[in-house]
Amino acid sequence: MAITKTNFINYSRCPRYVSLDDIKKEKLQSMVTLEEYRKEEEEEIIKELLGDMYDEDGNDLIDTKNEHLEVMLPYYNMVEILAGNLAPKYFDGTFKYSKSTKEQESFDAIIDGIRYLCYVDIYNENDKGFNIIEAKATTTKKYIDLGCKVDGNFNSIFMKDEKGIYRLLEELNVNIENYMPKEKYDYNKAKLFDKFSNAGHYVYDLAVQRYIIEKDLISHNEKSKLKNVRYYLAVLNHEYVFNGKYDCGEPVYETDDNGNEIVSFIDLTDVTKDYMDKIDLDRKRVAGYINDLKADEVPLGVYCEIKKMTKCKYSKICWAKLPAKNSIMAYIDGHHGFKDKDGNKYERFDLINDGYVSMLDVPEEMLNREKNVIQRRALESGKPFINKNKIIDGIKQIEYPIYHLDFETFPCPLPRYRGEKCYTQSVFQFSLHIEHAPGVCDKEKDHYGFLAGDHLDHREELVKLMCELIGDSGTVLVYNDSFEKTRIKELADIFPEYKNKLMKIRSMIFDLMNIVKTKSSLYEDLGYDKEEAKMFNYYNASMTGSFSIKKVLPIFSNLTYQGMEIGNGVEALITYANFPKMDKLDFKHKYEKLVEYCKQDTWAMYCVLEGLKKEVGLNMQPN
Ligand code: SF4
Repeated sequence: MAITKTNFINYSRCPRYVSLDDIKKEKLQSMVTLEEYRKEEEEEIIKELLGDMYDEDGNDLIDTKNEHLEVMLPYYNMVEILAGNLAPKYFDGTFKYSKSTKEQESFDAIIDGIRYLCYVDIYNENDKGFNIIEAKATTTKKYIDLGCKVDGNFNSIFMKDEKGIYRLLEELNVNIENYMPKEKYDYNKAKLFDKFSNAGHYVYDLAVQRYIIEKDLISHNEKSKLKNVRYYLAVLNHEYVFNGKYDCGEPVYETDDNGNEIVSFIDLTDVTKDYMDKIDLDRKRVAGYINDLKADEVPLGVYCEIKKMTKCKYSKICWAKLPAKNSIMAYIDGHHGFKDKDGNKYERFDLINDGYVSMLDVPEEMLNREKNVIQRRALESGKPFINKNKIIDGIKQIEYPIYHLDFETFPCPLPRYRGEKCYTQSVFQFSLHIEHAPGVCDKEKDHYGFLAGDHLDHREELVKLMCELIGDSGTVLVYNDSFEKTRIKELADIFPEYKNKLMKIRSMIFDLMNIVKTKSSLYEDLGYDKEEAKMFNYYNASMTGSFSIKKVLPIFSNLTYQGMEIGNGVEALITYANFPKMDKLDFKHKYEKLVEYCKQDTWAMYCVLEGLKKEVGLNMQPN
């Protein structure tokens, strides 16, 4: 099989990947059909898509089965079609796009006995030359966010030209210094060349595409054409707001009220040109790995992309030398490295490759962050770190009744309902446990909730019920409040008739994580000095560096998510995504399981709060 773009990107990780991938050397010159190419790309596409949809700790995603995730592929394919439909607004000439036509343009070149091959998402030919447009279901945000604030205003290194295509400032007739200091510009532009950064990932992909295309043209004596090829990414516009128009039940993504299109084009011709020498080096490395095919252990590195959606599929083999719990990776902020007493810095990967794989392997004098010292003490002693006073003072801020609230959301790449943007965390379920007085809450009788049973717009029903259930006094308790606060603000903007009540609910939110972890401003307001205010309130070695509720819950309760049919946020959203495909019986079963899962999330908060009270000896009596 020829080396496709996806293979190339993976093979350039390290020599071991290539040998583990069981390459058949004798087939390295053969062709790959569009169908085979798409199949191979699908796995990567799904991972990328979910990486954009779900940016919490990626572990939930990594273990989700691919057949369940395939439900997301149509959304991805739609991005390609939307980009193809919009392209004629920006480019002249003829177009070839959409996998359904089975006519995608392909390029391939044989170099040193290996065939490299790519298919082009949108191929646009005009009288000057041709444009290569790669559609990605990511958003402009990753690119526009590259920049800095000047005089209180954020300026990006990208700006639209007169046609509405994003280009780097240096390619437009402007003085960069008017937008940001040159060194800031260069610093942000450099991120485009880091293939492991959010924005650089797609730029590298496009650069590999360019490399193969150029080699193809050169091998066909068409070098003169090179200067007339331009390279673009087509990505979802993060500013686009869907107006709620449908045709036969399908959303119509026409220009929004602010003149935004749903897809934006980013010209990366010059950036990918600067990448060519690097890609050539990578290509030589890959060819060397294929020649040697050595499965020997290699140093672990950033290319393993551990803890990311794009993590290497062989990480289970290579990373087995690290303990499953409390490895060096569990040190909070460990990605900044460690310093010895003389100020010498040691990168985490260097330490791992030198054999410092467990938390306990790292010499104590290198733990220059107080929180890491706390982690270490908790692990060594087997006793939790606890600041009782802070926990007690935190709990005292909570007023009764407590409304334990949790949302489940579907961050669809394409907006589905009025007022939504691409990847809006669209709320389809809420769960609510009402604790009337300290400890007075029944898991079943005091539970309320809403779950949309199909993909129609049920947001107003959900909002209405939530507003009816939550009173005007007490505390709305959530875990990690920025998520729920943002969702409620979005719903308030979409449903003005509920705005006052929703904003009231929002003002009642208190974050339970602030009691477990901390929140500097809260504890400074309560009279703690800066240092104590910012330090953890609680840490137990079983948390292995995470304050997620799934890690905290087992410490304070016997309640567990283990064995639940739907046991994490990704399974919840994938189940909801699959609703329309289920038969009646399956739907009924899954619906109940989803209700059960969301109920568990709010009951977990109740249990954690009870556990914390017990831990600090806070005996709160029902009023
Ligand atoms: S896990 Fe890391 S070292 Fe192992 S094959 Fe993948 S990239 Fe290479």
